[in-house]
Amino acid sequence: MSDNLFKRFESAVPGPETDFLRLADGAALRYQDAFATAARYAHVLARHGARPGDRVAVQAEKSPAALILYLACLRAGFVYLPLNTAYTPAELAYFVRDAEPRLFVCSTKNREKIAAALPRVTFLTISDDGRSGSLVEEAAAAPEQFPDPQIGMEDLASILYTSGTTGRSKGAMLTHGNLTSNAQSLKQAWAFSQGDVLLHALPIFHIHGLFVATNVTMLAGACILLLPRFEPDAVFQALPQATVMMGVPTFYTRLLKDSRLNQDTTRHMRLFISGSAPLLPETHQQWQARTGHVLLERYGMTETGMNTSNPYVGPRIAGSVGLPLPGVEIRIADSDGNALAKGDIGMIEVRGPNIFKGYWNMPEKTAAEFHKDGFFITGDLGTIGADGYVRIVGRGKDLIITGGLNVYPKEIESLLDELPGVEESAVVGLPHDDFGEGVTAFLVCKDGAQLTEGAILESLQDRLARFKLPKRVLFLDALPRNSMGKVQKSVLREEYQALYQQA
Ligand code: AMP
Repeated sequence: MSDNLFKRFESAVPGPETDFLRLADGAALRYQDAFATAARYAHVLARHGARPGDRVAVQAEKSPAALILYLACLRAGFVYLPLNTAYTPAELAYFVRDAEPRLFVCSTKNREKIAAALPRVTFLTISDDGRSGSLVEEAAAAPEQFPDPQIGMEDLASILYTSGTTGRSKGAMLTHGNLTSNAQSLKQAWAFSQGDVLLHALPIFHIHGLFVATNVTMLAGACILLLPRFEPDAVFQALPQATVMMGVPTFYTRLLKDSRLNQDTTRHMRLFISGSAPLLPETHQQWQARTGHVLLERYGMTETGMNTSNPYVGPRIAGSVGLPLPGVEIRIADSDGNALAKGDIGMIEVRGPNIFKGYWNMPEKTAAEFHKDGFFITGDLGTIGADGYVRIVGRGKDLIITGGLNVYPKEIESLLDELPGVEESAVVGLPHDDFGEGVTAFLVCKDGAQLTEGAILESLQDRLARFKLPKRVLFLDALPRNSMGKVQKSVLREEYQALYQQA
């Protein structure tokens, strides 16, 4: 009999009546009904040509149906390929070219627009509330049982694209085994049990809301309180029914600005978890002062799942991402992969059953990011203290994290440099109260060119997802450079660090 993540989900369900999802309007969906619907969806996907190992690309709004589509793919051995809902048709074309999905499930409202950009793709649709669309409608008449495919822990479960430093996104191939081992470790580390209700306000196209939140809850046979998005009113309304919340730091800074956040409204909660971007020690302290809860910060990435976590029982240290999770080895290394001494700053490298299988179609890139002994080079710089806690001190990869979403400057710079009148550009993240970092573009104009911030933003609008659009475009006479001619982004970051504070 095959063993895979879906099988583990099935065997974790405590009983036939157990709820899998609860919604803001009070509606609930039991595990057994979600699994039956997943079987129906799997039939529809198979009927449209999907076979085990085929990629199923999905760009759909968050809804019960969208989450069940993920389960359907796991169940049938299709490789689930979620895409950020903000991606434009031009951006989607790259993923389709690269991953060659057998099917593309999109939001009903976007079908025409996307199909025009992707002429040779087979589409199915889901409406934004998950109640209609061709996938949902065709599934109504499909059987509730799906024959078990021979899918094991070594098989691919998902391809999740990360933004590439060189502008090209890389598809991280994650196996059933990768996802299962990580979810199992986290379930134990965070003491998830059947009684838990997770307040889920994260997007489901990213590792955090998809794998961390969903897989951990399901392996515990617990329940997800599914909110369509993060919105403080909805969060405060749902909070009394929840026991655990997961969020990006932006969630916590926004909740801190709300007068409803206090010890009374959070007393019943068991745990608040933060990750995907650095949590300021200040936020950690303010949260504790306001609620009495100590935020638990963890660290991971698309390619590796979660690597470290502050402890459930034991000190949760502000400014630290905690201790290696069980089964995950972590070292701080120099550029040759030699482990450094405790307290030294270097590259964070990880090894374990959680580490992805490689980048889709990119064997050289994959090889370049692993050492021969199997350690993956994360691109994050950090240190391990005498207490064993890991601290992240910077990012080797020049990444900007805004509202928990990653933006690689190179992609935006390439577009800016192509605009008429632009001599050169540099894009950096600057401290921003709400988003953590605000994407900021610095431009040097060609002689005589008359460019304005508004015109630049307008020309980027249709080419970039909203979260990647610069919040500000500033004009300089020249970019600061070092003696080797490299642009010194650190100088820009320092000089303009108060840009958004002033605003
Ligand atoms: P993603 O693949 O989108 O999850 O982004 C992974 C990157 O987010 C990591 O390589 C880190 O740079 C960053 N990251 C994730 N969690 C944390 C954290 N707790 N503190 C600081 N950076 C983090």
